[in-house]
Amino acid sequence: MRRFLLICVAASALARPSFAREVDIVITGGTVITMAGPAIENGAVAIEGHNIVGVGKAADIAKKFTGKTTINARGMAVVPGFVNAHTHVPMTLFRGIADDRDLMDWLNNYIFPAEAKNVTREFVKWGTRLAAAEMIRSGTTTFADMYYFESDIARETKAAGLRAVVGETLIDFPAPDNKTWDDAVAYIRKFVKEWKGDRLITPALAPHAPFTVSREHLQQVRKLATELGAPILIHVSETKDELRQVAQRSGGMTPGTYLDSLGFLGDDVVAAHGVWLTPDEIQMFAARKVGVVHCPESNMMLASGIAPIIQLQRAGVDIGLGTDGPAGSNNNLDMVEEMASAARLQKVSRMDPKALSAHEVLEFATIGGARALNLADKIGSLEVGKRADVVIVDFDQAKTEPVYSAESAIVYAASGNSVTTTICDGKILMRDRRVLTVDVPAAIEKAKEYRARVMKSLGK
Ligand SMILES: [Zn+2]
Repeated sequence: MRRFLLICVAASALARPSFAREVDIVITGGTVITMAGPAIENGAVAIEGHNIVGVGKAADIAKKFTGKTTINARGMAVVPGFVNAHTHVPMTLFRGIADDRDLMDWLNNYIFPAEAKNVTREFVKWGTRLAAAEMIRSGTTTFADMYYFESDIARETKAAGLRAVVGETLIDFPAPDNKTWDDAVAYIRKFVKEWKGDRLITPALAPHAPFTVSREHLQQVRKLATELGAPILIHVSETKDELRQVAQRSGGMTPGTYLDSLGFLGDDVVAAHGVWLTPDEIQMFAARKVGVVHCPESNMMLASGIAPIIQLQRAGVDIGLGTDGPAGSNNNLDMVEEMASAARLQKVSRMDPKALSAHEVLEFATIGGARALNLADKIGSLEVGKRADVVIVDFDQAKTEPVYSAESAIVYAASGNSVTTTICDGKILMRDRRVLTVDVPAAIEKAKEYRARVMKSLGK
């Protein structure tokens, strides 16, 4: 009997050694795709506080750590949280307001009047809340936003537990929050001071585009960003019409060259789209370390064109992936779909199925976006010391089994709905498909209310 007891004690000590440190969360048993090396089959990730403290084989992690919360990820993939590097989150409340139209009809007859009549602090609050629910549900843990009332967007984002680079829009016409340029500049000074240094929120300046902001104002933004130590988010070279307008105001320059001639470009600039960048501009963006955000679904939906992603990649430009806004240019915030679209668009446009792989688009959606946003020291991969932004993708579904390659299953077979668990900064925001930090039914109810209000405001 005594001998039997000794064996039992020895066996339990083996299973859970006494020197294992107790940490907050251990995710164990899944395929861990770190984006910093080969995938780890039957791997584990240990999280303590806000950070990742262990990544490796499940057996090795079990020797070092036990979790107050243990998440079994058998049959699932454990990946870095997705980075949606270009969006306009409150526009969820305009989702599908005017699809299948020309850009100018869409902008002038729907988006601009709808924004002028409806966008208030309350509107962006509910729009951000709805977007947060959607992003958490589909595995996005970081997003870069360009809109109005960004301080309110930041507050909602933080309440939902998400990470974001929030860019207050500067544009040469009266905006819903700031009626004049000087008001917008004053707002930005206050906004950056309020949020700078926050764990989750990076305040940014978001001049809308080189054709909607004057030369003098672009130069002023550049100076202000340097003074405040805040990044710049901007749309660049999205459509052919933009090329025409920029050429007119710059004596024939293309948007990237024009911005460079103003001393605007630098490693703190994140350019969305870049559809019509020339070979010279691609080299210039690489040299200036400008990040580029590819938005394939928006570019397809608005028929803007096909971004030269392979050339940008070859030049060494940091490339992120973004959904763009959900009002007529996507219309969702699902980064898993966006990855599939990015890969397929390059394949068909180059008539080459090898043009862009599942691994490469997964990179864009994680570490690439983190690099473009200058956050790669904190997020984008599963490595010890980085922030615990971790997502679990369930493969045990009819649409994803069997799994020959985890990366291929995520990109080509799964969707945002395959995500079961979302962790940001060490906090569980969704567990087993239940969103914990946003009242989802309330956000959906409010979205329906706003639909009626918006339609009425447009006289429809
Ligand atoms: Zn955009």
